[in-house]
Amino acid sequence: MATQLCWCGGALAPSVHPEYGTCSVCGTLVLQRLPESGELKGYYGIDAYWRGEVVNVSGYPSIDERARRDFGDRIPVWWRILKRYSNSTHSLLEIACSHGGFLAYAREQGVNEVVGIEVDEGTCRFAMEHFNLPHVAPGLFPDVSLPRTCFDAIVGFDVFEHFRDPEAAAKALERLLAPGGLILLQTPCYRGEDKAWEQFRPAEHLFLFNEENIRQLMARAGLEVTATFDGMFPDDMYVVCRRASELSRSARMLDQLRAITPLRRKATKAERRAAAARKG
Ligand SMILES: [Zn+2]
Repeated sequence: MATQLCWCGGALAPSVHPEYGTCSVCGTLVLQRLPESGELKGYYGIDAYWRGEVVNVSGYPSIDERARRDFGDRIPVWWRILKRYSNSTHSLLEIACSHGGFLAYAREQGVNEVVGIEVDEGTCRFAMEHFNLPHVAPGLFPDVSLPRTCFDAIVGFDVFEHFRDPEAAAKALERLLAPGGLILLQTPCYRGEDKAWEQFRPAEHLFLFNEENIRQLMARAGLEVTATFDGMFPDDMYVVCRRASELSRSARMLDQLRAITPLRRKATKAERRAAAARKG
């Protein structure tokens, strides 16, 4: 078997975790043995992953429970961040939309066209039925068939670290971005933790980035990271990207200013009440 290299082509040196290498060029942490696409497809099934692995191994609620609970914390926060960077989103693509709750929320807030992607057909069906969503496309991004060629906003929460080929994913994001569009990601940020770090999950986290090397990766795809800031969960960062060729100095500065303006990290009482009243 060929020795695994980083997305940047750099060789891997030992890292603090035995199953990951550190890129000697850019510092990305790379799983030493990347799974094949077929393995990944099998792994992310609705029962195997969303009702199995997630609950039994990671200790999180199942997709059924999350389809209700996420409205009480992350969904309104994600929406507030998206709105801060893009107040005219008419079309929205969410990669790895899981139960589809964020797309449903965005539609309620006035986004006309919402499209999701999930690996497994069963999960796509769950999202479409549960929230009456028109399009949730199955497949491993970017190998999916979508009803539109471009989107005003593309979001991916907790997905970029799962991609087998992050450079291909970044290039696909750029292709799918409408003029003036926005990409918003939430992904773990490696800040020098030891091998006990919770984000070392060799079954699913294939590449672990920091603020600098994700910037380098996006640049290869013609995207510019205009802002990074701490996530609502301590291990994560948010990453805002736009098409590099479209950016003016003032647009870049505006994103940087937005990133340092405090955001309410938790859902408001009203949002939590609304979530509790929701018959998910
Ligand atoms: Zn590298």
